[in-house]
Amino acid sequence: MRPERLERIVLTHCHRDHVGAAAEPATRWGERVLAHRLDAPVVRGERPVPEPVLLDREIPLYEQGLTAPEAPPTPVDVALEDGDAPGFGDGAYVIHAPGHTPGSIAVRLPRHEVLFTGDCVAAVGPVMPGVFDVDRAQAVAAFHRLAALEPSVACFGHGGPLTRDTARTLAQAAEAMPA
Ligand SMILES: [Zn+2]
Ligand SMILES: [Zn+2]
Repeated sequence: MRPERLERIVLTHCHRDHVGAAAEPATRWGERVLAHRLDAPVVRGERPVPEPVLLDREIPLYEQGLTAPEAPPTPVDVALEDGDAPGFGDGAYVIHAPGHTPGSIAVRLPRHEVLFTGDCVAAVGPVMPGVFDVDRAQAVAAFHRLAALEPSVACFGHGGPLTRDTARTLAQAAEAMPA
């Protein structure tokens, strides 16, 4: 991948491990950065990262993560809303899936039956919502909505993609987790 050929960088949410170095290529090559309206001010560095409500098992992991460097303030060229189609992937569109953060999004490519979940779903071990949710109940509800889309391929912020039995795996994980 030649970075100068990239046109857009879509940020699924405002956490540093997902914003990372987006500012550098955007500044150097002019890629447009897209993020949901509610997370955009955090990405831009205008507002602090929203505090998660930690589950007990998340506390040690969270404290470890605090030592990682912050993402630098990053320009957001397009503030996304639910249903926006940014113009790639044969009709890819944005699904607002709040809970992990207020402006968390998934991106669905309906013609290819591909779903990018950001941290609304993670596959580090069993398939489940990502850790460090701002609103766990909302995150679980979003998980259910995404599972109901029955994608053939699901790509996560953490963990390898699911390419086989994807819809069934997501449905079973949702079922095990009452909304
Ligand atoms: Zn995250
Ligand atoms: Zn993450």
